[in-house]
Amino acid sequence: MTRKKLVFANWKMNLNSDSASQLVKDILLTINKDIDVEIVIAPPFPYLNLVSKLIEGTKIDLASQNIFHEENGPYTGEVSAQMVIDMGSSWVMIGHSERRQHLLETNSMINKKLIISSSNNLNAILCVGETYDERRQDKIFPTISDQLKRGLSEIRKEDLSNIVIGYEPVWVIGSGKSAKPKDILEVHNFIHEMLVSLFPKAEELPRIVYGGSVNSENIESIISLENVDGVLVGNAALDCKKFCDIVMKVGGSHD
Ligand code: PEP
Repeated sequence: MTRKKLVFANWKMNLNSDSASQLVKDILLTINKDIDVEIVIAPPFPYLNLVSKLIEGTKIDLASQNIFHEENGPYTGEVSAQMVIDMGSSWVMIGHSERRQHLLETNSMINKKLIISSSNNLNAILCVGETYDERRQDKIFPTISDQLKRGLSEIRKEDLSNIVIGYEPVWVIGSGKSAKPKDILEVHNFIHEMLVSLFPKAEELPRIVYGGSVNSENIESIISLENVDGVLVGNAALDCKKFCDIVMKVGGSHD
């Protein structure tokens, strides 16, 4: 089955209100409105509302980079699923490696976030991926299998169509050099098989997207791979030309 390709921009903790609005305006002027690609932008929390207004009525959707793993309550400094929905988000990123690393997010917290995002009808991108040490020690598949099993625990098969798995090898994020196509293919096939075995009765399995130093030069070799349903873009998403080139090449990859 051919599924709609996704290009997901993770702005991380970058830009300010002026540069964020300029970037969105430039992207809207540059991308072909008829392109058959799903485009999602994840700005930092303070710019959700700003970006939401700029993309209203366009083909771009809005994501939050995180939500808290409780619905509401005494959690100073945290942001709930309902709050990001209120700001215009229809998507949320869950379990990015930078949050696993710097904010000590565990698979159990990540699972609670996914359950909350599903019950609030948010689309979620669940990020998984091995560190450099795990790769060197031949622990790629056990690591990813654990992240998937625990992250997706108690998720109902009906909610899978709102979930995307983002495979992001931690050692290539922000490095400027993506993983090799044969390595990406191997892991995406593994994730696909795992999803089939975790949800044998599901009518629709989550799409699987690759992230890690995607740019306008390497995108074609990545998007053409089997079981690669799109890309998650960090650095290159901060530059209108680089980002729109990626979107256009993904759009041109359909047969
Ligand atoms: C990311 O952190 O999600 C990412 C894909 O970053 P980059 O493209 O900069 O490697």
